[in-house]
Amino acid sequence: MHEKAAVEVAGLVKRYGGTTAVDGLDLTVEHGTVTAVLGPNGAGKTTTVEICEGYRKPDAGTVRVLGLDPVADGAALRPRIGVMLQSGGVYPGVRAGEMLRHMAALYAHPLDVDALVERLGLGSCGRTAYRRLSGGQQQRLALAMAVVGRPELVFLDEPTAGLDPQARRATWDLVRELRADGVGCVLTTHHMDEAEELADAVAIVDAGRVVAHGSPGELCRGGAENTLRFSGRPGLDLASLLRALPPRTGAEEVAPGAYRLHGTVDPQLIATVTSWCAQNGVLPDRIAVERRTLEDVFLELTGKELRS
Ligand code: ADP
Repeated sequence: MHEKAAVEVAGLVKRYGGTTAVDGLDLTVEHGTVTAVLGPNGAGKTTTVEICEGYRKPDAGTVRVLGLDPVADGAALRPRIGVMLQSGGVYPGVRAGEMLRHMAALYAHPLDVDALVERLGLGSCGRTAYRRLSGGQQQRLALAMAVVGRPELVFLDEPTAGLDPQARRATWDLVRELRADGVGCVLTTHHMDEAEELADAVAIVDAGRVVAHGSPGELCRGGAENTLRFSGRPGLDLASLLRALPPRTGAEEVAPGAYRLHGTVDPQLIATVTSWCAQNGVLPDRIAVERRTLEDVFLELTGKELRS
């Protein structure tokens, strides 16, 4: 029988000296789903994931992965999870194919090594020493090592950072197939499109806490204000336009002749805008209705200033 959830983290705290890297983080990952953990640099994503993998000890809070304590039950947990670390964790001299075969031999029902090597485009480097692989090849090997044992749950830390578009697609396809096979996945990523493509659930982490959690659709709709853009001649009388529109609509001229309205954009609002334009001799050009993207939500929640 399955436990309630694949990952259950409650009140997690981790400090490094004076730095509180994780500050009361709660996270639940359902079985067989893909959860993306998004956050600015230094938000505490890697620390959280490494605690779930049993590589670090929490200072406070509880962590259960497949119902087990990653530190106390590490020996029982390790064969059931797959881990892709950012920094490989591979001896520099070992050959890629050997490494993968060695990994596969540790598991009861591994994937077919040759097929996996082929589909991740590693066919030509089976006999190449790890240190001689390119960065992208090392990364694809790390991914292969995480999944070759057909684990119940995989942790992927920025699996596509620095990969070319083909390798990104191959990685996404692999994650989708694992999911179709019932394998859950926790992935940290900086790529909003990756989260939108792959994730059933997204947890946005900032300053060591989860500040939003939900499906990409829920996060983009939640409190959403949609946007209407149109072009016209510069300097339109926006105060007059706003008087025709519902009270909580906003309007700005973002560049000369480029207008952006935000509020509840529905057919009635569009009709009101075009009718105001007709009354004022304005030909509205390129009318577009836009929804908030995951990136908009992310920036609203975590701020727009750059993190070190
Ligand atoms: P993220 O993965 O979201 O970028 P991290 O978990 O790597 O965040 O880091 C969170 C915070 O903890 C950062 O301020 C980072 O500098 C600090 N930190 C991470 N690992 C260590 C460590 N081994 N020693 C000291 N500070 C660390």
